[in-house]
Amino acid sequence: MSSTTPKKHRRPGSHPAAKGAETDIGRTRRARRINRTLAETFPDAHAELDFSNPLELLVATVLSAQTTDVRVNMVTPALFAKYPTAHAYAEADQTEVEELIRSTGFYRSKAKNLIGLGQKLVADFGGEVPTKLEDLVTLPGVGRKTAHVVRGNAFGMPGLTVDTHFQRLVKRLMLTEETDPVKIEHAIAGLIERREWTMFSHRIIFHGRRICHARKPACGVCPIAFDCPSFGAGPTDPEAASDLVTGPERDHILGLA
Ligand code: SF4
Repeated sequence: MSSTTPKKHRRPGSHPAAKGAETDIGRTRRARRINRTLAETFPDAHAELDFSNPLELLVATVLSAQTTDVRVNMVTPALFAKYPTAHAYAEADQTEVEELIRSTGFYRSKAKNLIGLGQKLVADFGGEVPTKLEDLVTLPGVGRKTAHVVRGNAFGMPGLTVDTHFQRLVKRLMLTEETDPVKIEHAIAGLIERREWTMFSHRIIFHGRRICHARKPACGVCPIAFDCPSFGAGPTDPEAASDLVTGPERDHILGLA
């Protein structure tokens, strides 16, 4: 068992945060400990969208709205091959784009956004993806979440990606009471070291997809159970919990438990 992995689980409901008795410094230490433990649990955490340059990541992230990264990765090879530059999107035929991205859902508005995005990149940014948050959010279909994904993963600039998994997880971990994504982002930014923001986002999202599921979290084998005020939201029996763990890291995760 690693140095940052809890030695034993707490009783459900016994964590100070669950009783509203956690100090600010206690919450900061706990958040950073969770980050370190998740780093050991998911040493390979990364953006699960396939891309090889900033434009590809921007396009893939726009397509990922309301669908899975796996589904997006199925359509992007053909899309990227047909439209390799912002100019290509700017001049694309809407129906042809729609056909290529149809299976990602909301394909009409997504195709419109991709063409508009290409036109705006050409008109305002010389055909290149800008790096500034305030520039990125002027692009069609691009909000703060997408902007942070691109900045963090294509440009190496730290950013917190507040998607649905992230929102659910930080609520369950009682790291913030905020519910608005921008307020959540600022609250977590105050707890986690800036240089860790991008990786913390990936680790939390990996944890939400593989262990801390929305309906039945695998509490009994959870590596951050000791630091989780919601321990007991899912089965605490290790055998029952181990069946709930998914993903290619399953053996590694169960080995840590
Ligand atoms: S799996 Fe259970 S113990 Fe782990 S973070 Fe989720 S709710 Fe907390």
